[in-house]
Amino acid sequence: MTAELLNGRDLSDQLKAEMKQEVDVLKQENIHPHLTVILVGDDPASKSYVKGKEKACAVTGISSDLIELPGSVSEQELLNVIDEQNNAEHVHGILVQLPLPDHIDEQKVIHAISPLKDVDGFHPINIGKLVNGEDTFLPCTPFGIQTMLESKNIEIEGKHAVIIGRSNIVGKPMGLLLLQKNATVTYCHSRTENLREIALEADILVVAMGRKHAIDGSYVKEGAVVIDVGINRQENGKLTGDVEFESAKEKASYITPVPRGVGPMTITMLLKNTIKAAKGLAKK
Ligand code: NDP
Repeated sequence: MTAELLNGRDLSDQLKAEMKQEVDVLKQENIHPHLTVILVGDDPASKSYVKGKEKACAVTGISSDLIELPGSVSEQELLNVIDEQNNAEHVHGILVQLPLPDHIDEQKVIHAISPLKDVDGFHPINIGKLVNGEDTFLPCTPFGIQTMLESKNIEIEGKHAVIIGRSNIVGKPMGLLLLQKNATVTYCHSRTENLREIALEADILVVAMGRKHAIDGSYVKEGAVVIDVGINRQENGKLTGDVEFESAKEKASYITPVPRGVGPMTITMLLKNTIKAAKGLAKK
């Protein structure tokens, strides 16, 4: 079997075109969705992600501000900036680009963002709602993956989903979303024994390890759906995933490439959440 490609870039373009129309309508109702992105320090990868987010906002007509703070900024100064944005009426979404410098407590910063403007979906209130199955801002990467699966009518109910990785931003919420769609979910992590045997049972295999090509075709059941979240920069400067694409695609029914897979969908879901925030705040 050679897998069909789940092309995140094409789906993102389609969704962004739909969102542009939605934003146009909102503007007629005097709702102007606005995202503030806060970048601390000058990490090149973070800068490039932020640039991608600003560009995507512009394409859909969402306005955005970038607040750049030096890596030496104190935790309190950053919290003050967040507070200002929480209170700014024209701001609907606030995103603090992670990771933050070591002297700043990331959790404290996430807690400081108003849950109503938490378009990353990382605030404990929003995570709690996700656990309860209540309406909330879904974390962008799992939300994007769910949207990709739905776009191909890939059946989730009753399927065995194996998630390799248990981070708060990808693995954990991914499992919760798939559970809500009635998958049987198994989480794997660095202490998991018999990783290959467990992965081989997966109908849907989500890999979010941050380990270049750690998962090859020998971990993939014939016909499985393989979602590669990993972003690893190679010596030649090109990006590659956690999955060894060539061997995995021979086993999988569907597979995401890197780049042009999960990455563009993550940004697109940020836009969706910003529009949702703008509509929600307009009702207040
Ligand atoms: P983290 O480093 O926070 O988590 C990695 C997870 O993988 C951990 O749970 C870890 O286990 C697990 N892991 C590491 N090594 C192994 C191993 N040998 N066997 C089994 N499990 C292992 O990473 P993130 O979740 O933040 O990101 C994962 C990858 O996805 C990265 O490459 C990141 O760049 C990328 N990413 C891509 C996005 C996109 O839009 N495409 C968005 C966000 C991230 P343990 O918990 O035990 O340490």
